[in-house]
Amino acid sequence: MNTIIKRYDEWEPYHDLNRYGKLTLSNIEFTTTTLCNMRCAHCAVGYTLTTKEATALPMDDIIRQLDQIETLRTVSFTGGEPLLTKNGIKKNILPLIQYAKERGLKTQINSNLTLPMEHYELVIPYLDVMHISHNWKDEQEFVDVGFSMMEKLPSVDYRSKLYRNIFDNARTLSDAGVFVSAETMLNRNTLPYLQQIHHEVAHEMKCKRHEIHPMYASDFAESLEVINLDEYRDAVNHLLDIRDEHVWMLFGTLPFYRCSMHAQDIALLDRIDAANNVTVRNDVDGRSRMNLNIFTGEVSVSDFSDDGAAMNSILNNSLVNIYDEWLQSRISNSINCHCPAVKCLGSNIIVKNMYYPSHTFKSNTVR
Ligand code: SF4
Repeated sequence: MNTIIKRYDEWEPYHDLNRYGKLTLSNIEFTTTTLCNMRCAHCAVGYTLTTKEATALPMDDIIRQLDQIETLRTVSFTGGEPLLTKNGIKKNILPLIQYAKERGLKTQINSNLTLPMEHYELVIPYLDVMHISHNWKDEQEFVDVGFSMMEKLPSVDYRSKLYRNIFDNARTLSDAGVFVSAETMLNRNTLPYLQQIHHEVAHEMKCKRHEIHPMYASDFAESLEVINLDEYRDAVNHLLDIRDEHVWMLFGTLPFYRCSMHAQDIALLDRIDAANNVTVRNDVDGRSRMNLNIFTGEVSVSDFSDDGAAMNSILNNSLVNIYDEWLQSRISNSINCHCPAVKCLGSNIIVKNMYYPSHTFKSNTVR
């Protein structure tokens, strides 16, 4: 008899429904820098990047806010490139990630993985997931597209070296036991290269997990071409055909739901359910997670600037209250559906606008 293995996803917001019976703030994502050594054409926070770092709020004030969130389970660090400078790591990340570890929280850092290994060594003792992106068809594309929004381009040799660093660093960290998870977004550019990208993630980078997400046409990425739902479904089926079963494949913000009227959507969800080492994650933004900018204190639903209008600031209110205000908001109510029978929490605002602009999702549609 074949046993289907499904890995436990610490970042899944449905764990809060199981535990508390309602959406609950259990995940804080910190924006800990606006600096980055790259300027990718697809950067979803591109217009927020700067060349000079602001001063962060006092860490004690941020930690006092975290102390108030009794339900906190996970924290993530994003940027910019959070690990760009050792000074930034020491001042803006270590106090928070050490606090998280002492509290028993799970931790993730989003990095482009192009940096010297000694930057990573500073955080590895406190880190559960090293989250990277891999959307490149080859070194040439990285050299061209990874810096295309930069005013003064570094040399081609330097850019090529950074590309090779990604592979070398991923392998080194994976070999050292770090859980490296690579995310690939599905869009017109990545579609023809999914088999190759998956092969590189699984075998050349030795990642433990390959995450597949929709492209968020936000900021610099707004000019990239979104694929339609038929193409998306075909791409997921293709990935399921060619994947290495030893690598956990996680579909995040998958734009197919059990309430669908389309037999192909249900067949795809059935296929994922029956697949070994494949999971679907409900969308975290605004469900279990809020983003905190450690420089301004602003709190938003996600770090994507098209979706990230600040709700409020921890200078005026607590994270818990800001989250409660978000749940009462019109936008939150317009996307928050819930079908307990299939543990589905519906879409997020970007994906709904992209793929289901006129559709109303109703809770308990699936019983
Ligand atoms: S929770 Fe929403 S998206 Fe999911 S099956 Fe129910 S109605 Fe559909």
